[in-house]
Amino acid sequence: MELVRRMRGFGTTIFAEMSERATRADAINLGQGFPDTDGPPEVLAAAVAAINAGANQYPPGRGVPELREAVAEHQFRHYGLTHDPATEVLVTVGATEAIAASLLALCEPGDEVIALEPTYDSYAATIALAGGVLVPVRLQHPDHRLDLAALRAAVTDRTRLLLINSPHNPTGRVLDTDELAGIAAVAAEHDLLVMSDEVYEHLTFDDHRHVPIATLPGMAARTITISSGGKTFSTTGWKVGWACGPAELITAVTTTKQFLSYTHAAPFQLGIATGLGLPDDRLAEIRDRLQAGRDLLLAGLAGAGLTARPSQGTYFLTVDIAEIGETDSLAFCRALPERCGVAAIPSQVFYGDPTGVETLVRFAFCKRPEVLAAGAERLARLARP
Ligand code: PMP
Ligand code: GLN
Repeated sequence: MELVRRMRGFGTTIFAEMSERATRADAINLGQGFPDTDGPPEVLAAAVAAINAGANQYPPGRGVPELREAVAEHQFRHYGLTHDPATEVLVTVGATEAIAASLLALCEPGDEVIALEPTYDSYAATIALAGGVLVPVRLQHPDHRLDLAALRAAVTDRTRLLLINSPHNPTGRVLDTDELAGIAAVAAEHDLLVMSDEVYEHLTFDDHRHVPIATLPGMAARTITISSGGKTFSTTGWKVGWACGPAELITAVTTTKQFLSYTHAAPFQLGIATGLGLPDDRLAEIRDRLQAGRDLLLAGLAGAGLTARPSQGTYFLTVDIAEIGETDSLAFCRALPERCGVAAIPSQVFYGDPTGVETLVRFAFCKRPEVLAAGAERLARLARP
């Protein structure tokens, strides 16, 4: 076995596997979370204009000044958070690199990282790369509320940081202010750092709204906030992300990021800088369209005998296939493209120990209405085989 020991157990990601199965079976891909339409035309035009204007060489390692300023302005306009774009904002290759660079910069081997489980797939792998230890705290299906007593019980004298994600992939939960206050209290009491993955910050539904944990009293000083342009502007293929926080933490993260990628594509950074400046009503349009997709998929799944709770945010819904007599989501999702022409993600892969969650399946609704309708029609075959 050539692969280093700490990476064994991390084979092909579930997203790559299920997208490949979807392509092979010509299935409707409600697995990997990527939209099937382009985002705001101004964002796309800004990247094209940047290429034509010659933004084609290495940009500064910390990111183009226009994007760092746009991130700082965005954090202030939406949340009242202030950041110096020169020292407190770092542009990364997607949120994925921000997460990896932060863990590599801040964890010593053996340090424990507490994360909300189910955990987004890159967390376990990059904690392992950093030599850290993932300590999961489970959000219990179906309400996926954080059990603050379980969080407290997970803290040890090796705990280095709390890695949270809200709106949460794959459950679609948006942490409320009581849960955030509880996390903040634990962080303050044990002097822990917090990494907050907020890539779905603008994609919340009904009356749920995203509150960054850095806005809670005392938390800005100990929090790295991570986000990305991919989800909000339907540019997942651009991989423009960022991290903001106190200068000392961002400098540490910049040190490791320099040697992972040094910098990221300048034209795409300039496109996302334009996106972050779009007015609130444009963001509301994006949110409303996605919410309509969620409702369409909810109705479609109900037709297939699967009742999902409406997600509070993200691109995703979770169902329990025990409702239709299935027992294993991994086998179910591997067979689904051939069986009825749809792909989905088995949520059990996001758990260290899948006991009790073997039948949860995640479906993505960031697709055109006609695609969701066609997917629902195919899924209905599950109800009447
Ligand atoms: N965090 C979460 C919770 C995600 O769902 C994703 C990707 N979809 C990422 C991070 C990675 O974002 P990016 O594509 O910007 O690297
Ligand atoms: N974040 C996307 C999802 O959850 C996938 C991104 C990836 O393939 N790494 O579906």
